[in-house]
Formats: sequence, structure tokens, C-alpha cells
Amino acid sequence: MKAIAVTPKQKDSVRLVEMDKPNLADIKDRRGVLVEVLRVGACGTDREINNAEYGIAPDGFDFLILGHENFGRVAAVGENVKELAVGDYVVATVRRPCGDSIYDRIGEQDFTTDNEYFERGISRLHGYMAEFYSENADFLIKIPPAISNIAVLLEPLSIIEKGLKQASDIQERLKIWRPKTAAVLGTGSVGLLTVMALRLRGYEVHGFGRNPREGYLNAELCESIGATYDSTAEISVQDSTKKYGEYDLIFECTGYSPIVFDAMQSLNENGVLILSSVTGGDKKTEVPSDKINQQFVLGNRVMFGTVNANREHFELGVKDLALCEAMYAGWLARMLTHPIEGLENYARVFEILNNAGEYKAIKTYFEVSKV
Ligand code: BGC
Repeated sequence: MKAIAVTPKQKDSVRLVEMDKPNLADIKDRRGVLVEVLRVGACGTDREINNAEYGIAPDGFDFLILGHENFGRVAAVGENVKELAVGDYVVATVRRPCGDSIYDRIGEQDFTTDNEYFERGISRLHGYMAEFYSENADFLIKIPPAISNIAVLLEPLSIIEKGLKQASDIQERLKIWRPKTAAVLGTGSVGLLTVMALRLRGYEVHGFGRNPREGYLNAELCESIGATYDSTAEISVQDSTKKYGEYDLIFECTGYSPIVFDAMQSLNENGVLILSSVTGGDKKTEVPSDKINQQFVLGNRVMFGTVNANREHFELGVKDLALCEAMYAGWLARMLTHPIEGLENYARVFEILNNAGEYKAIKTYFEVSKV
């Protein structure tokens, strides 16, 4: 079968490779599921891996099959798989409990404390940019057919679901927390999904991106579900609080680390700032540290980082995708701007990923097979 691979740490090494089709016997306890890949999303992480900034090949291989944003159809199931049947639509989670930490052992590998982690398509495990993959049913999420056309967005959404779930868990420290306003920093695909998830929860949402508002599809998408959009070229997040007030919750997903300190100064008392950008560079910035520290102390503010997602967050994501379709029918499909048919057209996918601004791409993805 065809697959898309890179040689980690070697720039622009993305290529088509031929692999054996996986089979059920590869998975232990007869819990294997063979999945025909239908769609695979491409994101900044894939771009960074192909830029040699990130990514590790599995043991015994000098290449890594890419792809972690996935959607497929069950082609065969092992004898001990009762929860899935041939023909079901599924999305697989990304991280596996292969480490030694206590969190791996209790199935909370998204909170692993090991430095070495195992993520399909990213770190030490092959990914989903292939015609088929096999997996233990424990790591597959069943997708209702009614949302099959947008389910390739579930993996990125799962990251947001985990962030929001942790925010509400952390805020249980307060006897009452009734957040009203939120700022979302970054309005790429992750940012737009965050705007959506917060609108579904009833927040007044303010989205911020670099691009000018005029003629920007991402801005229109924010506004069409009742959020605002402002360009940070015109107003800083901190200045925006004069217009909108300080934010009860801020979700950072720009990939630009200096904005974090701007966000820290834009948070309401008792507010929570969620950091989700994996910033691989070495950017430095100067900040008013006394002021920021004092605001955090005197206002009981919180900031935390979040990565990856577990089964429960994917399941929350399925519900939000369905609710979004019910409330804002067709909105999610508008994010699927750049479908590319066939794995052999990988060069086109990476051309768009590398020049997303020019292409006005929100989500670029492979259509590996017809849904
Ligand atoms: C993926 C996560 C992963 C993270 C760090 C993100 O692009 O969506 O599943 O944990 O990268 O590798």
C-alpha cells in the first residue's frame, strides 16, 4: 500500500513509500481493527516534521509515516472487538501508553511525565497517511455517519476539548465560576474550532488573528457564529480589553510565544489562560515581569499548558461536532478549504501547508478514499 513518509531531522524529505498492508494479527488479544483511511488532515506539526524541527522514527525504521488527523472506515475486526463492526466510521487517538510513567499505566498517557512519548505520525509510531492502518479498538472512536463529512476535524478539536475540560476542572477551586467572555488568540483551524467550542458553551467570544478582517474567510467564519474578529496588526490583545473588558478565559493557539505575555495582562480576576501552541523556535521577549506577577497574585489568575488528548476528549469532540451541525449547519464544512485527492499528491499538500496564507487555506487534507 501507499504511504507518505519523512526521514526525521532531514529537511524536505517527504515522499511516497510502499508498505505492506497492516493486518489484524499485528494487534494483541484479538482486539485489532483494520481501518481503510478515508481522509487525513495536514497541520503545522506535519509541516514542522518535514522541516526537520520535530518527529522521531519508530524503532527499527529510518523513516516515519506521517499523519495524525485521521478519519476512516472499519475494514475488518478481530474476534474480541464487540464495539465496532465492518463499515463503521472511526477516528483514532494519537498518543499511546508505551511509557513507564504512572499516567501511561492508568491510561492517561496524554499526561505522561516521560520525556519520550509515543504518538502516531509524530513520535516513535507510524501515522495515518497511508491507505490502511491497524489499531487496538481501545484507541478508536466511533463516528456517527451524520458527521462523517467533517469528522477529519475531530483530532484537532480534541486538543481544545482537553484544554477546556482542564480549565473547568481547575476552576473548581472557586466555589462559583461563571465565565462570560473569552478571547481566542489565533484563528487558523485550531483557533476557529476553539471559537466554535466556546460559542457552543455560550461565551461571548473575541477572536484575534494577524490578517486584516476585510475579505478574510476566517474572520467571516468567526462573525457568522456570533464571535468578533480583530486583527492584532490594528489592536493588541491588551488594548482590546478597553473595548471588550478583561477576559474570563483566553485560549492561545497562535504559535507565536510573545503574545502569551500580552494575554497574561488581559485576563480578568480569577481568569484562566490556556496555552496550546508547540513553539519549537528560540524566540525571546522582554516583559513587565513585576506587573504580570502582581496581577497573577492579586487576581488569583491561572495559566496552564495543555498537549494531546485522551479518549474522553475525543468523545466530547464528537458531541460538539454534532451540536455545531445542529446549531450552525454547514459551518464546519466551510473550514475544509483544501481537499487533495490521492496520497500521491503529497507535494501539493505540503506546498499549501508551507504557504497557507497565500492559498487562504484553513484545513488542507488528503482524500485518500471516497467517504
Ligand atoms: C497533535 C497532538 C500532539 C502534539 C505534540 C499536535 O499537532 O495534535 O496530538 O500531542 O502535536 O506532538
